[in-house]
Amino acid sequence: MLERKEVKCPNCGSGACIKNGKVKGKQTYLCKKCYSRFSLERVRQRYPEKVKKQAVAMYREGYTLTQIANSLNVKVQTVHYWIRKYTECY
Ligand SMILES: [Zn+2]
Repeated sequence: MLERKEVKCPNCGSGACIKNGKVKGKQTYLCKKCYSRFSLERVRQRYPEKVKKQAVAMYREGYTLTQIANSLNVKVQTVHYWIRKYTECY
């Protein structure tokens, strides 16, 4: 799987993120907008694959990000992140 160069902040969705060193071998990033620190690994492992696929499936059926987020009990930003991540693979 290809890793995308552009990193989005899971907190505010901003693309203005810089690399912030590695912690236990995992690349961490710092958002220049909201100053939150995050690692992509953690975001990816936070929810089971099933939930992500469900979110993408709902998106394809025409649900809004807010509707998906509410029904799966996740943040809108998280759903947005998954959609971006998954739809670029097809
Ligand atoms: Zn941010």
